[in-house]
Amino acid sequence: MRRDPKVICPFCHQQQPLAKTLTAQSNQNVIFTCLHCHESIRNIVTSKGE
Ligand SMILES: [Zn+2]
Repeated sequence: MRRDPKVICPFCHQQQPLAKTLTAQSNQNVIFTCLHCHESIRNIVTSKGE
């Protein structure tokens, strides 16, 4: 089974799919935008592959 990576918003603590909340910029910055509270963070650290 394949699990989609999830991210927990530090503002509202809602768990949501990584793919829908992260926007990769051309300069390699990654912006997280919460689907619930619409807060955004630049350059969040994501953990890949545990
Ligand atoms: Zn949020």
